[in-house]
Amino acid sequence: MDFSLTEEHRMVQQLVRGFAQKEVAPVIKEYDRKQEMAPFILPRMAELGILGICFPVKYGGQGLDYISLGLACEELEAVDSTLRVVMSVHVGLNSMCLLQWGTEEQKQRFLVPQARGEKIACFGLTEPGAGSDVAGIVSTARRAGDEYVLNGEKMWISLATKAHHALVVARTNLEAPDPHEGLSAFMVELDRPGVTTGDIHGKLGVRAGSTGWIAFQDVRIPVENRIGLEGEGFKIAMSCLDNGRYTVAAGATGLIRASLEASVKYAHERQAFGREIGKFQLVQQKISRMIQSYDAARLLYLRAGWMKNMGERNTRETSLAKWFATDASFEAASEAIQIHGAYGYSDEYDVERYLRNAKGAIIYEGTSEIHQLMQAGYALGYREDASLRCELPAYDPEFSMITPTGHSSI
Ligand SMILES: Cc1cc2nc3c(=O)[nH]c(=O)nc-3n(C[C@H](O)[C@H](O)[C@H](O)COP(=O)(O)OP(=O)(O)OC[C@H]3O[C@@H](n4cnc5c(N)ncnc54)[C@H](O)[C@@H]3O)c2cc1C
Repeated sequence: MDFSLTEEHRMVQQLVRGFAQKEVAPVIKEYDRKQEMAPFILPRMAELGILGICFPVKYGGQGLDYISLGLACEELEAVDSTLRVVMSVHVGLNSMCLLQWGTEEQKQRFLVPQARGEKIACFGLTEPGAGSDVAGIVSTARRAGDEYVLNGEKMWISLATKAHHALVVARTNLEAPDPHEGLSAFMVELDRPGVTTGDIHGKLGVRAGSTGWIAFQDVRIPVENRIGLEGEGFKIAMSCLDNGRYTVAAGATGLIRASLEASVKYAHERQAFGREIGKFQLVQQKISRMIQSYDAARLLYLRAGWMKNMGERNTRETSLAKWFATDASFEAASEAIQIHGAYGYSDEYDVERYLRNAKGAIIYEGTSEIHQLMQAGYALGYREDASLRCELPAYDPEFSMITPTGHSSI
């Protein structure tokens, strides 16, 4: 068993850390207060290749592995969750789905511009009346010749007003005996007639990010935009979540690290009863718990990333990593505020933002309750992962570096 990172992994960490710490950290508080996404974020992440980090060069990406994706997410969320949310939806939930389920033509048409960051992508699963219960989706896509006509509304969609493409799950068969089997997935260009989008304001956290809604009224989409087969939408959506949840787990690990670093720094600076507060054992206990959480969360997400590299099914391991890391990040942020006392309760320090951001990740991409049900389901034998028609490709360094003209880019 090899726990070491490669030279390439370290370069990813350095590059992403440099961007997040030097370019975003100095302005994040201002944008969080304004409840706006800083306009330079998406173009700069595209320019640095972060938006296409784990896709083969042939598909517009950087040709790196899935561990690199996790490490990038950890570095991004160590500064602000909104940066990692971009990776969760643009990379994990949408572009990785194209890599897994898309035809070669769909990869060329959608994945290449997304991996290059020329087009931004989002993921439209949740509806006003259907969140955890995906089979409750009521949006419809009615077949009409060579097209589908899409109607419905998607709610709580990250990057809804920033994205060019959305992966949308809608009902194609109203009669399916099992409602899970009546769903299909589509790539929808958001400039099609009949699409409207808007932002949701007044959120507790991820305020420097973009969360919104997308409405579809008689939106005509060509059959070529359907991802996978008719009726495969539920399976596709769940496989997207295996990838999105991985980025959330890695990001939450970064948030634990940020809470720990802020706490250690403050514990040295603040004096009480004639000593720095780091000398008090109850403060030390909080810090040691953060270290415990950080290491455990990191090992869990790296295991999931390693399994992705190997091409092994990782639904259980990714769910466990996401559940553990997000709960632990909320706990770490809360204790970091406690260590900061009253100052932690104001936005003079970053820790209050960490707590607000951490709460969201316990809700999206499967609430903690859903992950607990999943884990118990595996243990009790109620749940088992059958193989999929299309699996996420294992990481193949040679294939990943082949250029569009068929040459190796190494
Ligand atoms: C900031 C943010 C960004 C988001 N981004 C996206 C996005 O990009 N794309 C997207 O599609 N969605 C997105 N979502 C939506 C998110 O995925 C849903 O909120 C989530 O799936 C939960 O659904 P819900 O909010 O409808 O809650 P519900 O499903 O209504 O759940 C309400 C409560 O009931 C509990 N519950 C539900 N079912 C069970 C059960 N069987 N057993 C025990 N408890 C249960 C839940 O755990 C929860 O505590 C986002 C949400 C947020 C907050």
